[in-house]
Amino acid sequence: MKREITCINCPVGCRMTVELSDDGTFLSVTGNTCPRGAKYAQQECTVPTRTLTAVIQVPGSPVPLSVKTASPVPKERIFEVMQAISTAEVSLPVRAGQVILKDVLGTGSDIIATRSLDT
Ligand code: SF4
Repeated sequence: MKREITCINCPVGCRMTVELSDDGTFLSVTGNTCPRGAKYAQQECTVPTRTLTAVIQVPGSPVPLSVKTASPVPKERIFEVMQAISTAEVSLPVRAGQVILKDVLGTGSDIIATRSLDT
């Protein structure tokens, strides 16, 4: 069977056609302009992952703290991870790159601050 997907690794957004076996095993990909697209296509058809961004309200700060996953997390766990981020308790000051949640929900990815907030 064939599956059409769009590479999200750069703004070019190559449209790719993935060939899968009847049991869903990845066989081949066409339409990618570079090897990153092939790697993405294979991962997307086997274990899809996403990098998440979010904001957290920090007591005493007039602006929210922007955070992201340090590495992609399984797509099927996005909702759980977003819930964990929404309940994180953070206090000032915060430094860009600071770990807010270590190994969030055992995914192997940390949630880190993407900006600094002072008192
Ligand atoms: S295949 Fe390469 S050029 Fe095409 S969108 Fe992906 S990263 Fe960009």
